[in-house]
Amino acid sequence: MAKTHNLGFPRIGAGRELKTALERYWSGQGAREDLLDCGAALRRRHWQQQAQLDWVPVGDFSFYDQVLDMGFTLGHVPPRARVPGADPRDDYFRVARGRSAEDCSCHALQAGEMTKWFDTNYHYIVPEFAADSSFALDPTRLLAQWEEARALGVAAKPVIIGPLTYLWLGKTRDGSARLDLLGRLLPAYAQLLRTLAAAGAEWVQIDEPLLVLDLEPGWAEAFRHAYASLANCGVKLLLATYFGPLQDNLALACALPVHGLHLDAVRARHEVAALLPLLHPDQVLSLGVIDGRNVWKADLHALLDWLEPLHGQLGDRLWLAPSCSLLHVPVDLARETDLDSELRFWLAFACQKLEELRILSVALNRGRVAVQEALVANAAAHTARRRSARVHKPAVQAALAAVQPAWRTRASSFCQRAPLQAAALKLPPYPTTTIGSFPQTSTIRQARQAWRLGQLDQAGYESAMRAEIAHCVRVQEALGLDVLVHGEAERNDMVEYFAGLLDGYVCTSQGWVQSYGSRCVKPPILFGDIALAQPMTVGWSRYAASLTDKPMKGMLTGPVTMLNWSFVRDDQPRSVSGDQLALAIRSEVQALEAAGLQVIQIDEAALREGLPLRRADWQAYLDWAVDAFRLAANGVHDSTQIHTHMCYSEFRDILGAIAALDADVITIEASRSDMDLLDAFEHFHYPNDIGPGVYDIHSPNVPEVGQMVAALQQAARRIAPERLWVNPDCGLKTRRWDEVLPALERMVQAAQQLRAALPTRRSA
Ligand code: GLN
Ligand code: ZN
Repeated sequence: MAKTHNLGFPRIGAGRELKTALERYWSGQGAREDLLDCGAALRRRHWQQQAQLDWVPVGDFSFYDQVLDMGFTLGHVPPRARVPGADPRDDYFRVARGRSAEDCSCHALQAGEMTKWFDTNYHYIVPEFAADSSFALDPTRLLAQWEEARALGVAAKPVIIGPLTYLWLGKTRDGSARLDLLGRLLPAYAQLLRTLAAAGAEWVQIDEPLLVLDLEPGWAEAFRHAYASLANCGVKLLLATYFGPLQDNLALACALPVHGLHLDAVRARHEVAALLPLLHPDQVLSLGVIDGRNVWKADLHALLDWLEPLHGQLGDRLWLAPSCSLLHVPVDLARETDLDSELRFWLAFACQKLEELRILSVALNRGRVAVQEALVANAAAHTARRRSARVHKPAVQAALAAVQPAWRTRASSFCQRAPLQAAALKLPPYPTTTIGSFPQTSTIRQARQAWRLGQLDQAGYESAMRAEIAHCVRVQEALGLDVLVHGEAERNDMVEYFAGLLDGYVCTSQGWVQSYGSRCVKPPILFGDIALAQPMTVGWSRYAASLTDKPMKGMLTGPVTMLNWSFVRDDQPRSVSGDQLALAIRSEVQALEAAGLQVIQIDEAALREGLPLRRADWQAYLDWAVDAFRLAANGVHDSTQIHTHMCYSEFRDILGAIAALDADVITIEASRSDMDLLDAFEHFHYPNDIGPGVYDIHSPNVPEVGQMVAALQQAARRIAPERLWVNPDCGLKTRRWDEVLPALERMVQAAQQLRAALPTRRSA
């Protein structure tokens, strides 16, 4: 009998209950008990929703981040976060956010660095290592959740992050090697496994997604050593790999002494044949056949055609699961009552994916006839999607075929464009700007919602948004910023907003996916050929520009980010969807220019996270991604200044591609990583202007002027000062006005101090 299990369930709650509870707790409105109760209720509900599985995950729930949880379980907590006598849960939030609660009287501290989890849009807190890091098991959280699950009567399987992946995810600040810590780390893992065994656990899922990456020297040997030492701890280990094929690590993974291996059979299905002969006769093979990274219905017939012979061979050693944790998809399609029924019929969210697993296992164990009706419906959905005229549009395909290579290139080089732009914009040295959004207040959200619900008419909505824009422009003028923005009040989200205006996209109303902490996004669904029905931003930008003499930036989201932050088609290459998006955005850029906007920012916040996990695949991705951006951006005159923005600090390895975008100005995240990334500029001559973020907008803390001056001075040692801009790390929409105003005031002061030390004017 094939068994079914799950690697992880979305923890935020179908109604984002966890978000609400966390934010109430942080703001001091909710008691700690309320937050804990909310967590317990969500876990209970989620286990019940998974109860039909043979094993449900335990320990996948988190109040902020599973990597941070693992750190606390291992007793590996940055010493600065430990406040003697305080509740450890507050230590936890201190690492995650720089403080435990908004009005916390204790000293604010540096929040842990956040970075993206493999190639997803989920952010984890980076473990901090040093040569003297130590570990001391604290299994309280896992054991408590294990007991909860047992009390509920579900078959539970604890989930932990494996030792090698945990080490690899972290950073050392003192130049020591992470692997040197393995000897100290393994006893904590062994003790954890023995503790779980003593509590009654039969299986433990140990996640080692590191195995789908290119391993650095020494790590393969470390895997062998680590798993040999964890082999006899009284539990069966299910080694989980996901997000890609194992490739050169396949033999390594199969040689580890574990009782089961999970493979992402969506992205690595082709490896199953090679893997089978390497399994031990009693080893379990868990196949992640249901896509945990996208929202389309699985093709159950095709899967059964493939799985039936495998099942014949493996019998009850075959387990079926989603490809990875379902953390990366929305919870329940049943909540999408507004979605048109045609589209809905093509989709599956977390709950529906578990139902697909059930159908597959019944079909394998009892024959397809036992789930005949479900299989017929599944096939009908696939046929309808394949034939739909909403998906395939000849006009869009013809427009794409007509694109000329020259459309992807500016008329002149940056050296020739820069003086024209300087003459047009007349900016001081170290010009200041923001990344686009200003705080999204409840007034803004209420107005948008009332309009969406039809309680506020179009005119009322427009005047509410215009009032916000006018307020933003006044504030920026008063602060003395140089290049202004309209503030993006009309946007719930930088991708969803555009998706809602483009043909070929649909937005959900409840399709939330956790991004970091309490932050969630609703990735829109790109289901068909993309077309621009009418200008999307020109009205707002033109109005904002009319209120000031300072340059106003038009603000768009780039094609690659649209793609990487959406659920996209699985029936054509991403590059084709990317170019369709680029063409639509290009029209918008040209419309903004025609409306008089001299500066246009095209955000590519997510360009880097689209990088394939394996180096060998990078160039092909970067080639089409850069091409798509250039198609979107390069249809303007030389005097129009194109900005782009990227939200990450790991970027030395793609500098060539960033330069190839040929944006006149790029603003990037830099503050949390101490301008580390600028080291890359010592070796790579980045040709255009750059604004390394000096204000960490992910933390409520207000930066000091001196901090920002020092950061920029550090930047000026690598980048010619006349090419530096001064800006925050990212947009300000998640912050409050009372945090943003003093921060920007100080940021402008920092720029002024630097100008005073640099008397030469920005040359025209
Ligand atoms: N312009 C967007 C904003 O300011 C950019 C956001 C982002 O990079 N994530 O909100
Ligand atoms: Zn950003």
